[in-house]
Amino acid sequence: MTAVAEHRLQPAVQSFLSGTKQLYIDGQWVDAASGRTFTTYNPADGQPLAEVAHGEAEDIDRAVRAARRAFDAGHWANMKPNARERMLWRVGDLLNERAEEFGQLEALDNGKSAGIATAVDVAWAADVFRYYAGWATKLEGTTVPVSMPFAPDKQFHAYTTREPVGVCGLIVPWNFPLLMASWKLAPALAAGNTVILKPAEQTPLTALLLAEIFEEAGLPPGVVNIVPGFGDAGAALSGHLDVDKIAFTGSTEVGKKIVDASKGNLKRVSLELGGKSPNIVFADADFDAAVEGSLNAWLFNHGQSCVAGTRLFVEDTIFEKFTQAVADAASQVKIGPGLDPTTQLGPLVSQEQFDKVTGYMAAGIADGARALTGGGRWGEVGYFVEPTVFVDVKPEFSIVQEEIFGPVVVAMPFNAEEGVVAAANDSIYGLAAGIWTKDISKAHRTAREIKAGSVWINQYNGFDTAMPFGGYKQSGWGRELGANGLDAYTTTKSVNVAL
Ligand code: NAP
Ligand code: MG
Repeated sequence: MTAVAEHRLQPAVQSFLSGTKQLYIDGQWVDAASGRTFTTYNPADGQPLAEVAHGEAEDIDRAVRAARRAFDAGHWANMKPNARERMLWRVGDLLNERAEEFGQLEALDNGKSAGIATAVDVAWAADVFRYYAGWATKLEGTTVPVSMPFAPDKQFHAYTTREPVGVCGLIVPWNFPLLMASWKLAPALAAGNTVILKPAEQTPLTALLLAEIFEEAGLPPGVVNIVPGFGDAGAALSGHLDVDKIAFTGSTEVGKKIVDASKGNLKRVSLELGGKSPNIVFADADFDAAVEGSLNAWLFNHGQSCVAGTRLFVEDTIFEKFTQAVADAASQVKIGPGLDPTTQLGPLVSQEQFDKVTGYMAAGIADGARALTGGGRWGEVGYFVEPTVFVDVKPEFSIVQEEIFGPVVVAMPFNAEEGVVAAANDSIYGLAAGIWTKDISKAHRTAREIKAGSVWINQYNGFDTAMPFGGYKQSGWGRELGANGLDAYTTTKSVNVAL
């Protein structure tokens, strides 16, 4: 760890990092059945951060059995909704109280800025818990005015109820470890489900720290189980015959494996997958706001974001000036470790991700793309890369087609007469899109034509806990956040009474 990092670390973080982290199953901290552990690393210097129990199929099975017992016992699903509400609200409050501790730990494990992790990842996770806490008391069914054509002389009283799905497996990636976990945990728990959380192998730490908060908030044992491990643990969870539902965020490739693995018991599946989102700048946009917003669109979280606006479409009359302004702004961004408060762009999460992103940069250059700024590694230690703006690209280049998951944007001009929608929609993905213009008709018309789950006008990353989020096409199934987010974790029962 760097001297700066050690100097600023909270004592609570330091003590959490000492000693092997265990699995959290049935309210107990336990070793992996195999006794194995794995190391999680600090991406800023590639040095080991902590040893973590290595969960595998047998541990997943133990956790599923604990979650099943807790679900069947009914002390969670049948708890008074306002009691569940208070506990989940308390989880949000405790997260806020310990925000800096969680933020630092996230920064160390993932590489992102501790300041941003505290202000965005942790604060938003707390907001998500409180938002869904409120839903525990509002999961209402309906009364249905049935006609019953085959019983014309009888009267009926028919209604629906919303019930929890049961045991839910939650598999999350490393880019927003705590936040992606909270997007799944909060609605699942509010609806009365019990869960097994499988964090990503690169970033297991904040998920384990979260177990302390669930305990303090008073959740019964077995309601939340946390099993760090590798892809085989995720596969064991998604193939387990006693798991009723899988919620997954990660790559489209693994999303397809989860669909295959779910067939055994036809468990329900929701998926938040990859993206290659278009960010469209019309010539009549507020130039400075669009430059700043477009930079944020592809650089936020070092480009390791499923919604990253990495295909920048700029109207041809301003293309050169605009892309140069974006490249100039990108070249000013302060690169450094996440615990340095002046850092704007941290390292990528791992050697693997570093190799993947620098590989795409090299492929782009070999294909004939021109880097207005960046194009390679930054510094000599850690997994840092330069923010990179490519122009002179063709639609068939891999840097235009594929999700890079790093701070790399491809910029393409469009002509007002020909329009931009067909090019923007030319992707297997459909997660998000940005539109910049002062013409409100053009903005709404374009928003209607874009095939994406979220469209942000004159801003990018315009998320809110109350707004549903999810993908078209190969970006996923289902929606998270908002009232729609509860659909994934509830099932409807129809009750019809002959009076
Ligand atoms: P990934 O493999 O899809 O990882 C996501 C989660 O799935 C992790 O917890 C992972 O465990 C687990 N997993 C892996 N194989 C599994 C399987 N067969 N069954 C069930 N779960 C499984 O993503 P990655 O390898 O970390 O990243 C690869 C690429 O995916 C990135 O470069 C990026 O393009 C994309 N990605 C997208 C998002 C997004 O938000 N859309 C997030 C992350 C990555 P392990 O950590 O042990 O592999
Ligand atoms: Mg790590």
